[in-house]
Amino acid sequence: MNDPLLPINSQPKRTKKLLPKVLAVAAIVVLFQLSDGLCPISDKIDPAPYVYDVSKIGQILKDKEYIDEVVERWSGAIQIPSVSNDVMVNPNTTDDLEELYRLEPAWKQFTKLHEYLEKQYPLIHKHLKVEKVNKFSILITWQGSNTKQKPILLTAHQDVVPVPDETLDQWKYPPFSGAVDGDRIYGRGSGDCKDLLMALFETAELLLKEGKFQPQRTILFGFGYDEESQGTGAVELSKFIFERYGPESLYALIDEGDQGYVQQFGRYVIPIPTGEKGHLNSEIELFTPGGHSSVPPKHTSIGIMAKLIDRIESVDFSPAITNANPLMNALQCMAEHGQIEKSLKSDIIKAVFDANANKKLVEYLSKDPSTEFLIKTSQAVDIIQGGVKSNALPEYVSVVVNHRISAEESVESTSKKILDDIKSIATKFDLGIVFENKTIVEKTKNGYFNYVLNESLEPSPISPIDTAAWNTFTGALRYLYEDVMNPGLNETFVAIPAYAAGNTDTKAYWDLTANIYRYSPYIGIVEGEDEVARGIHSLNEWSSISGHMATISFYYYYLQIVDQIADDTLISQ
Ligand SMILES: [Zn+2]
Repeated sequence: MNDPLLPINSQPKRTKKLLPKVLAVAAIVVLFQLSDGLCPISDKIDPAPYVYDVSKIGQILKDKEYIDEVVERWSGAIQIPSVSNDVMVNPNTTDDLEELYRLEPAWKQFTKLHEYLEKQYPLIHKHLKVEKVNKFSILITWQGSNTKQKPILLTAHQDVVPVPDETLDQWKYPPFSGAVDGDRIYGRGSGDCKDLLMALFETAELLLKEGKFQPQRTILFGFGYDEESQGTGAVELSKFIFERYGPESLYALIDEGDQGYVQQFGRYVIPIPTGEKGHLNSEIELFTPGGHSSVPPKHTSIGIMAKLIDRIESVDFSPAITNANPLMNALQCMAEHGQIEKSLKSDIIKAVFDANANKKLVEYLSKDPSTEFLIKTSQAVDIIQGGVKSNALPEYVSVVVNHRISAEESVESTSKKILDDIKSIATKFDLGIVFENKTIVEKTKNGYFNYVLNESLEPSPISPIDTAAWNTFTGALRYLYEDVMNPGLNETFVAIPAYAAGNTDTKAYWDLTANIYRYSPYIGIVEGEDEVARGIHSLNEWSSISGHMATISFYYYYLQIVDQIADDTLISQ
């Protein structure tokens, strides 16, 4: 169901004549699917047959003494400012730690965090294999007895984004105090990502303390050190795991991403991102002859660059929704299970084979920026530099345009659009163009554009949702939300695939497994308590303590369930 059926908007022109035939076939496939349901709901998994102490699952959420201990350890981790800055000296620069701290004082906090974790979680450090990869990434291996089963990898990151000094007085509690207020813990990293980091440590320590769980399936915990900047920590971890286990060697990878559940179209929905957009920085420089500003040309390089920026912004990327985007599947789920207005429902169902319905759906999604940018490549002119003196003509101007690439586009198609914009301005002003070190148009006496692609990342592969791994994960989540957290609500929670506009460390792990879920269990997200309102990457970041306990409770039984589920079984719907 997740394979692209017919990406209408991305059909190359030359296949146009074939389209009616393809459409007919696609329509039959879709109608066939409709009879089966576009969005089968996974069976809820009752953990009783899988876990050794089923009462513990609910207890974790209620045991005041345990909760206090967990919160104290969590708060302690927030108090260590393991900040990652955009530019950091790579830990492999020197093996002399003191020398490394001198070159990059920020690393010192990571050593502190490691020492703290070692002290707080003695059983993990005593009984499991804890390895440091490139000095600051942590790989924990809980060896399973059955090496034929693929290991599961659970990840989070140790680093947090910086807090600008200028904003300190706007924090209700100091950002690195880990203050507790009611059901909330405050501080940088409380919601991104020391909540998940600590919950995973808590779960493993708890299971070890009880001493009954002896996994058959190997469990790996991987914690990178610079998700918020360069992401090299996850790349190093991934290489290390790849060398040890090989390609496609993992059962699944579960990382940070969406949390909890929401109410949408009258249903309780668990959104699990199964893919994320690509990324590109378009760096464009313009070189022109200098001179005295008393005899200027009609347009200086700054003026020409302004024309280019205007051109870039006036020609938008085209929005598109096809089966290449998990959002299409999510909408189908809502059409099937939600209370959704009739014409919208019909547009959603027909969108994959009816161009008119697709167009109407695109219009509907484009109205709201939160969905608009899930179906369109974005372009944001974020940095501009140029000019040095008021009496000298600028000889050099540069801009950086940041793109998040949609599921239907690529790094190539994105850069082609920008290159076309550059060409149109270069022609007008008789300028040369160098693109990725290749001369496209010879430099002229007026100067030239130099266009370079940086931090390019293709849109991620989309994780399938017709696998045992998906059904087990979502079936176990249903139990948490329906039976543990909301008994008496009598609602069936619907897990849907989602698409993420931002990137996570998961981008480093594509070759290790197709089953990548960017999600952690949490409380229900009500209006006004989304990521923005919770101060993620901003002021007064906070996280819910009951949400944190829900994460621990879930992993406590989920790890015992996946331990006994076979690999790669395709569930026939
Ligand atoms: Zn994060």
